[in-house]
Parts: sequence; structure tokens; C-alpha cells
Amino acid sequence: MSSKRLIFLGPPGAGKGTQAKFLSEEANIPHISTGDILRTAIDTGTPLGQKAQSYVDAGELVPNDLILDLISERLQKPDAQLGWILDGFPRNLKQAQFLDEILKDLNQHSVCILNLEVPEEELVSRLLKRHRQDDNEVTIRHRLEVYHEETEPLIDFYSDRTVHSVNGNRPLQEVTAALKEIVEAS
Ligand code: AMP
Repeated sequence: MSSKRLIFLGPPGAGKGTQAKFLSEEANIPHISTGDILRTAIDTGTPLGQKAQSYVDAGELVPNDLILDLISERLQKPDAQLGWILDGFPRNLKQAQFLDEILKDLNQHSVCILNLEVPEEELVSRLLKRHRQDDNEVTIRHRLEVYHEETEPLIDFYSDRTVHSVNGNRPLQEVTAALKEIVEAS
């Protein structure tokens, strides 16, 4: 893969985590999932986890001040200097602006923005099958609302760059192949 800094947009249940994991193994670059970081913090009861838990359980975004420093530190680690895949960040405008600032400071200019598209009812049915603690129907619907309100506008935010939209409503391997083709060409 030639492009080594990837941002995954797309709603919950679109397959960002699964695809990011494949691509991260393929390219040998870290898969940075803010959702995974928060879930680990909650499971181990760290101060971050304690502050984040009620938001995650309710399907709300965790406040930016809990996330921004965490991402900044993560992107400065040695293993992130050759590339990374961001999954679940940025999630709102403030986070996207902050990410642009960090990348400018790190002199990392090119990023490949991927957007996985899946119809809403398919998302709900996938999420209901997942059995994660925050995957009950009420929370799922709320997470989708939060996505439309806060995260979907990032497609416009990035409209001065290329946002590569990919149909995520097909077999896993086909989605992976489509993503690899984009990443290799970018
Ligand atoms: P995910 O695994 O990406 O679906 O994230 C699970 C939950 O973690 C979300 O519903 C939010 O509560 C929280 N979360 C993950 N990433 C972020 C983020 N970038 N900003 C705020 N909250 C987040």
C-alpha cells in the first residue's frame, strides 16, 4: 500500500473496524480505534474509562477534551511515524480541525480519506448481531442519529480533499479489495 495514513469515515456498523484491521495487518501500520481505546479504559477502570463510561453506554460522543490529547499523544508515538489507520476519529468538526493541526505540526500532509457506505437498516441489523454492551436497539438508533448530526458533516469538511466513498454493503473480501485498490492508487 502506498498511502500510509488512512482516515475511516462512515456510520457505526459500516465495517470500519474490520476493514481497518485487515489493512493495518497488510501495511504493518497501527490501527488506532478510539472506541477500542475507550472500551479498554472502561474495562480496566482507568480515570479515562470512568469519565467515558456513561457516554459510551448512552451512545453519546465522549467530550472532546477526553479524546483530543489522547489522539495527539498516540500519533506522536514512534510506531505511528510511518503511518496509521484512524477508525472512529475524527467524529465531529472540532476533532477534524484538531487532527489537521496535529498533522501540520507533524509535517504529515497527505492522508487518504475513506468513507464506507451501508444502508441504515443493514447497519441496524449488523449492530444488533454484534452483542457489544452498547449495541442495544435504543443506543444503536441514537448512535446513528449522532453519526448523522456530528460525523456525516465531515464529508463536507473534507470536500477540499478527495473522499473515497466505497460501497460497504457487499461481502467483506470485496470491500477489502476495493479499499486496497484505492489506497494503492492514492
Ligand atoms: P466505536 O467503537 O467507534 O463505535 O465507538 C464506541 C463509542 O465510543 C461511541 O459511541 C462513543 O461513545 C465513543 N467514541 C469513540 N470514538 C469517539 C470519538 N472520536 N469521539 C467521541 N466519542 C467517541
